[in-house]
Amino acid sequence: NNITGEVTFKKSSSEAIAGALQLGIAHSVGKLSERPDRDVLMQDFEVVELIDFPTKGTTLTPPHEFGEFTFQSYAPLAMRYFRDIFDISVEGYIHSIIHEPLTAIGNPGASGSLFWITHDDEFIIKTVDNKEAEFLMNLLPGYFMNVQQNPRTLLPKFYGLYCVKKERKHIRVVVMNNLLPRDVEMHYKFDLKGSRYKRKANSKEQQKKSPTWKDLDFERIFDSKRISLVKESYNAMIETIKRDCLVLNSFSIMDYSFLIGVHKCSVGEIASMESMSLSASNSRGNSVFKRSALYSSPMEQVFTGSQVNLQLSQHKVDQNWGGIPALLPDGTQVLIYCGIIDILQCYKLLKRTEHFFKSLYTNGEEISVVRPGFYAERFQDFLKNKVFIPQSKSSLPNPSQIL
Ligand code: ATP
Ligand code: CA
Ligand code: CA
Repeated sequence: NNITGEVTFKKSSSEAIAGALQLGIAHSVGKLSERPDRDVLMQDFEVVELIDFPTKGTTLTPPHEFGEFTFQSYAPLAMRYFRDIFDISVEGYIHSIIHEPLTAIGNPGASGSLFWITHDDEFIIKTVDNKEAEFLMNLLPGYFMNVQQNPRTLLPKFYGLYCVKKERKHIRVVVMNNLLPRDVEMHYKFDLKGSRYKRKANSKEQQKKSPTWKDLDFERIFDSKRISLVKESYNAMIETIKRDCLVLNSFSIMDYSFLIGVHKCSVGEIASMESMSLSASNSRGNSVFKRSALYSSPMEQVFTGSQVNLQLSQHKVDQNWGGIPALLPDGTQVLIYCGIIDILQCYKLLKRTEHFFKSLYTNGEEISVVRPGFYAERFQDFLKNKVFIPQSKSSLPNPSQIL
């Protein structure tokens, strides 16, 4: 940030970057739709498409005020295929990204990356450094294979990887799914790693209207107690996390977090969920409602296909609950929204020296930079034994009766 309070990144204003991204993405995705559909080939994962955007415009690009730039679209065909898997149409994608200005959102992370959210809440755009971008390029084939094998995942979904090249600076971004819908008030947000080392929101974060709390804050806020989930939800959630960690570990990824948004249900919301569960038995099967996959909730992500269909057919159109019903330790009924984020740190490439130096002066097991296998184990253990607890049906409505 400079003195005027304007947010800048590599000397470009946040607005100019967002504007350039909108132009570039619209062009790249639009162009793609003119090409006939075909299967993805291995070499598609390595393609980088390039187009110049002079301020005066060309026959292919409009005039603009964001300063001359070159736009790069990484693995465009592979990314289109990926969006297809998640039912994101070209029109839908373009509409979300360019229809209205992107909104910059503050980043509680230490990395200094910028974040934007699309007007319709569907996508988050995050700047990544060149190591992360390169790592994602290398990850794509394996990642795609995994998503195809197992669409039931809490891993982030990457829909695009782009670069705005401006004044000899590279600004790289990923487009991914937004986990926390803004129209649902989040009474708590947690970014959890299963580590205790420096895992406390700093004072600047704490003063925010809606802080993102960390592991030690979670422990303090809930007095070392856990969030209750119905046994089926708990099992599905833990199973999904386990499979996701296996993938992350196989790519030597670490430093990722489990993001949780907690929405406390109002009396009215509880009443309407209860009335839904009463009418669910009658309305089963004749609902035309289909949630868009890009907005897919944790509920859909952790349950298997047939279970999701059952839930969806009972889900009323006007209430986009999406979250997983749960109880806070004090008995408050809540919906939780969650997923795994920040998965582009590869231990093989980056972290070995850091671990070596840190382990010289602290207990190697307590710091957040440790071997990926250990990281994954600790992450799962923490979620399984410190964050969530299975609850018997009597004390919590069954999600299949609610949604
Ligand atoms: P650092 O590397 O310092 O941890 P970062 O810049 O890599 O930070 P992330 O860890 O990816 O950033 O995310 C920072 C915060 O942004 C998260 O704690 C969360 O509050 C929010 N956030 C990130 N990704 C998403 C997402 N997909 N949906 C909703 N919120 C997100
Ligand atoms: Ca992070
Ligand atoms: Ca990061």
